[in-house]
Amino acid sequence: MKILVTVKRVVDYNVKVRVKSDGSGVDIANVKMSMNPFDEIAVEEAVRLKEAGVATEVVAVSCGATQCQETLRTALAIGADRGILVESTEELQPLAVAKILKALVDKEQPQLVILGKQAIDDDSNQTGQMLAALAGLPQATFASKVVVADGKATVSREVDGGAETLSLKLPAVVTTDLRLNEPRYVTLPNIMKAKKKPLETLKPADLGVDVAPCLKTVKVAEPPKRSAGVMVPDVKALVEKLRNEAKVL
Ligand code: AMP
Repeated sequence: MKILVTVKRVVDYNVKVRVKSDGSGVDIANVKMSMNPFDEIAVEEAVRLKEAGVATEVVAVSCGATQCQETLRTALAIGADRGILVESTEELQPLAVAKILKALVDKEQPQLVILGKQAIDDDSNQTGQMLAALAGLPQATFASKVVVADGKATVSREVDGGAETLSLKLPAVVTTDLRLNEPRYVTLPNIMKAKKKPLETLKPADLGVDVAPCLKTVKVAEPPKRSAGVMVPDVKALVEKLRNEAKVL
């Protein structure tokens, strides 16, 4: 069984992002970039399924600039077998990525596609759902447990009221939530081994996909600064302020 797993290169989660002075977006010049944390969980899950003998091949895919090769090498160091970079200098919105992934699903015929539930740069939470719709595949989003057996994936997923369990007929799309697993640290020997693993580069046009953006960003602004807090002497004063000043009671 082949698993396709997606890895997006995003601003590292420890970086405090700054808005560009012209309000056109976030400044990513000289900023540390890393694999989207939910995608690390996706790669870890795919590699665990391979180590358990359920999967035979794990193929990592990244879409974007040439530097996404580094993200793919990290996926290969975690344990993916080969990488595919779909290289584009254009801004790739979730629908464009979903169309690229649909073309790769047609080409590679994986039994399972594992994506992160969302990318921490745009927080869209759309790509997995769009891919499932375009490819006509069953989907289980926000997975906290995945068991694959007998041509089916049994997925526990986090929903508002608690946990829900779905049974999906393969091939299927799964998106990862935080509780699914704890990704391993990549070791130096595995980083060295990853350098020798195959990495193919394609262009969206090779897959017949038009990635022209459908959405236009009008303006990006910092959230308003929080004003200083006020110390109140007792609960009575707090209730009085909540009732008469904040008018929330
Ligand atoms: P989003 O819908 O943008 O929040 O992204 C959800 C998931 O889709 C991410 O966690 C990735 O697994 C995948 N994804 C989105 N954009 C890309 C990309 N440019 N390259 C590879 N995977 C992506």
